[in-house]
Amino acid sequence: MSSAASEPIFADRLLNDWLASVGLGIEYSRAEANTLYFRDGSGREVPVLDHVCGFGSLIFGHNNPDIIEHAKSVLDEQIPVYVQLSRQSHANALATVLNAILRRETPSGDGDYAAIFANSGAEAVEICVKHAELERRARIVRLTDDVLRHVEEAREAVGAGRATVAETPYVQVGAARDDREKLEHLIAEIGRRNAELVAKGPVHLALENAFHGKLVATVQLTQNPHWRMPFIALSSSTRFLRADRPEEMKGAIEDLRESLLDILVADGAVTVVERDFPVIGAFFVEPVQGANGMRPLTEAAAREIRAVCDAVGCPLIVDEIHSGMGRTGAFLASSHMGLQGDYYTLAKSIGGGIAKNSVALFYQDRFRPEFEVLHSSTFAKDGFSAAIAMKVLEMLEADDGRAYRVAAERGERLMEMLSSVKADFPGVVDAVDGIGLMVALEFTDQTRATSDLIREKAGSGMLGYVVAGYILREHRIRVLPVGPAGNSVRFEPSVHLTDEDIARTESALRDVCAIIRDQDGDRLAPR
Ligand code: PMP
Repeated sequence: MSSAASEPIFADRLLNDWLASVGLGIEYSRAEANTLYFRDGSGREVPVLDHVCGFGSLIFGHNNPDIIEHAKSVLDEQIPVYVQLSRQSHANALATVLNAILRRETPSGDGDYAAIFANSGAEAVEICVKHAELERRARIVRLTDDVLRHVEEAREAVGAGRATVAETPYVQVGAARDDREKLEHLIAEIGRRNAELVAKGPVHLALENAFHGKLVATVQLTQNPHWRMPFIALSSSTRFLRADRPEEMKGAIEDLRESLLDILVADGAVTVVERDFPVIGAFFVEPVQGANGMRPLTEAAAREIRAVCDAVGCPLIVDEIHSGMGRTGAFLASSHMGLQGDYYTLAKSIGGGIAKNSVALFYQDRFRPEFEVLHSSTFAKDGFSAAIAMKVLEMLEADDGRAYRVAAERGERLMEMLSSVKADFPGVVDAVDGIGLMVALEFTDQTRATSDLIREKAGSGMLGYVVAGYILREHRIRVLPVGPAGNSVRFEPSVHLTDEDIARTESALRDVCAIIRDQDGDRLAPR
C-alpha cells in the first residue's frame, strides 16, 4: 500500500525512494515456487519470474507446499518452540543428520562436528569468530605458561650460580649490580613486551570481494569498503588475499608475523628466544564468492588456503551460507573443490523459506565445549525452525539426493543459455560464472559508453540495478546485480526452474544485450 505524501514514513524511506528510482519499487503480494505476484492498477495479479529467490535462500522455492504442510502440522501439534535451558533433542537430531552428510561430502570424511545453532548467517559467522578466538587464546595461554615456567627455571639457575645472563639484542638490561638483578630487569622487560602482544586482537584472513555478513565482527570480513570502513574501529582487522593468486598467499601474510619473547637456559647462559605468536585468528572462505560474480574457488586456491591454515595453525572456516544446502549440485559447494574446513557455516535454505535459522559446525577435535554456554540467543535452536530444517534436509537427501542432481542439471541448462548469450554479444557480456543454481552474467565495462545513461549508470555502479529494473518492467523477471561492482545480474532460482523459465530469461537478456550493444540507453531509463 502506498502512503499519502503527508504521512510520516518510519521504515525504508531512503531504500524505497531508491528502489523506485531504479524501477524496482514493486510490492509483491504472493509467492509460489519461482514466481512472485504483484497486483497492477486494476487489481489483476501479475506473475514475475524470481531469479533472486530470497538471495538464494529458497532452494525449494517460495512457499513450498511440502514445507508449508509440515510447518502447519508441527504448529498443530503444539510443539514447544521456545524452551531454552531444557533438553532440546531436536538440536542433536539435526546435528546428527548434518554430520552424516558432512562425512559423505568433506574430503577427510572423518567428520564429527559439534553444532551451535543461531538465527542468521552473519550470527553463525560471528560465532566462528568467537570460537576461533577461544582457540587462539588457548594457544596464547599455553605459550605464556611456558614462558612463566622458563622464567622460574632461569631464576633458579641464576640463583644457584649455574647460569649467567647473556647479552641480548632484545632487551637492554641496564646497569644491574649482578646477574640476579640483570635477570629481573630482563624478565620485567620481556613481560612488558609480551603483555602488549597478548592484549592485541587477532588479524583475520579472508578473500578479496568476500561477503560474510554485516554484524560488528563479520562486516570486517566483508570487503566492500562502504559497509566495512565506518565500523573499522569496532573490531579486529582483516587481511584480504587474492583467490586468483594462490601462490602469493603465504608471502602476503609474512608481514603479520609476531614473536613472543621467551627465556632459555642452556650451557650456563640465560638467553632470549623468539616464539611464533598466533596473530591470525582464522581464515574465512566462501567456496563460491557471491559478491565476486559467483566465482567458484579453484582447486589450486583451495589447496593453498588449506596449506596456509595448516602452516599458521588457525582454523579454516568454510562459509557455506550462500553456496551450501544443495545449491551447487552438492550439499557443500566446497566438496567440488576438495576444500576441507575446520568449521562450516550454513543458513539461508536451511530455513526452508519460512524460518530463520543458521548453524556453525566445528570439527570435534577443535571444539571447546564451554562454548555451548559462551554463545546463546533467545531464539536460536527453537523447535519450529529445527523441525523445518529437518524437513529441508529430508527433501534434499530424498531419492538418493535427487535435489542435488536437479540443481546441477538445471544449473547446467541455465549456464548453457548464458554462455550462448555471451557468445552472441562478445562486446557486451564479459563473463558468465558460477556453479549449479548460483550463477551470474557480467557485462563489459560501460564507463566509456556513448549512451549518456549507460555511461553514467555504469560510472555510479548502478547499471546492474537499472538493467534489473528494465527486465522487471518489460519482461516480468526479477534479477539483481551481484556484489559492489553492480554491472552484473545474478541467477539463484530454486530447483523448480523450468525450460520455459530459461527461455524467457534468454529473450530478456538478449533484449538487454542488444540495447547495450546498440547503446540505446534511453530504453533502459526507469519510468
Ligand atoms: N556469508 C555469506 C557467504 C553470505 O552470502 C551471507 C548473506 N548473503 C552471509 C554470510 C550473511 O548472512 P545473513 O544475511 O543471514 O546475515
